[in-house]
Amino acid sequence: MLEEEIIIIGAGPCGLAAGIALQEKGYNPLLIEKANIVHSIYNYPSHQTFFSSSEKLEIGDIPFSSIERKPKRHEALVYYRQVAKRRKLRIHSYEKVEKVNKSTDGFDVFTLSINGKEKAYHCNYIVAATGYYDNPNIMEIEGEGLPHVFHYFKEAHPFFQKKVTIIGGKNSAVDAALALEQAGAEVTVLYRGKSFSDAVKPWILPDFYSLVRQQKVDMVYEADVKKITTHSVYYKKEGKEHQVESEFVFAMTGYHPDHSFLHSMGVKTDADSGRPVFNEDTMESNVQGLYIAGVLAAGNDANEIFIENGRFHGEYIANSIEKQNKNQINR
Ligand code: FAD
Ligand code: NAP
Repeated sequence: MLEEEIIIIGAGPCGLAAGIALQEKGYNPLLIEKANIVHSIYNYPSHQTFFSSSEKLEIGDIPFSSIERKPKRHEALVYYRQVAKRRKLRIHSYEKVEKVNKSTDGFDVFTLSINGKEKAYHCNYIVAATGYYDNPNIMEIEGEGLPHVFHYFKEAHPFFQKKVTIIGGKNSAVDAALALEQAGAEVTVLYRGKSFSDAVKPWILPDFYSLVRQQKVDMVYEADVKKITTHSVYYKKEGKEHQVESEFVFAMTGYHPDHSFLHSMGVKTDADSGRPVFNEDTMESNVQGLYIAGVLAAGNDANEIFIENGRFHGEYIANSIEKQNKNQINR
């Protein structure tokens, strides 16, 4: 077994920030990442603009300069690479944590690399920072698995002059609708709500409402989507069945943490919110020595923790680990 003091699972912005906070306390944690760093940001829509201004995405006190006040995805990729390099974070990329077992004196961690190599580590503390972006919310309706139905939006170009239906009514849905309409797609948005909530960033709505007023985007509220076929999306509104011709479908229904991974490590989650059980002051979960960082802490609510606030979790964790270690020495 390879010996480590602290293993951080996931090198997203909050995992990286936790690594830096621990470094500042004199630790040298190992980050294990199944792809490469900030993989969720890499998977964002190619031309995504953050809703946060760049200083709110900064970690490790390293300035993030961007051309506009709100940076673009590619600027954030450059920034987080620079941070990882400058802070000399120890990162094992393309290595997936498959299993974590609690042992009498810490944790046994089993990983599998992209080249098929298996590794086993022993460590005293775990920080789980695995995010939610790998797990889209499934509607569990007929046709959701068809090849023209997507849960991620990357670029609008392939949908030029195509009939595209978007399901959902928050930021990803509205952003995708704007980009697709601009690229010449014929866009319908089906949303189950009566109106958009406060979670939708207010500055994107005027453009969207303007397209709806001009009948460039067909917006249907209170649409209960029932079925997707190769050519159509079927939904119910006010008790009546409707059908919209759709060559492509973007189900922008949000994302959730991998609950089975948390449960396999012994971390309990709340059945309704999907939130892991943890102490808000320390981020330590119900499993002693296992900490939660980043959006994973929010459970199923993707609009509670962002990089803006999740980047500070590492400081609580580092303080708690330092305290636990001091207590052990004094015992
Ligand atoms: P993630 O960034 O999701 O990182 C988790 C990492 O863990 C990933 O790299 C993943 O590959 C890795 N991983 C998962 N499982 C394993 C495993 N078993 N073994 C090893 N590695 C694993 N937030 C803001 O604050 N401002 C914004 O403007 C903003 N804009 C956004 C725009 C879009 C389109 C989206 C989708 C989100 C946006 N967010 C924004 C939210 C932000 O992306 C998340 O809050 C952020 O990514 C959370 O960071 P994290 O480190 O907790 O998780
Ligand atoms: P989200 O905020 O979770 O929204 C998901 C949407 O899908 C909601 O409107 C929800 O309806 C709907 N939905 C969920 N399950 C459904 C189902 N079974 N059937 C029908 N509709 C369903 O997800 P998101 O918009 O992808 O955003 C994810 C995260 O990325 C958020 O943190 C967001 O802020 C961030 N983001 C940021 C930007 C940006 O910076 N510009 C852009 C995109 C996303 P309800 O409204 O009824 O819940």
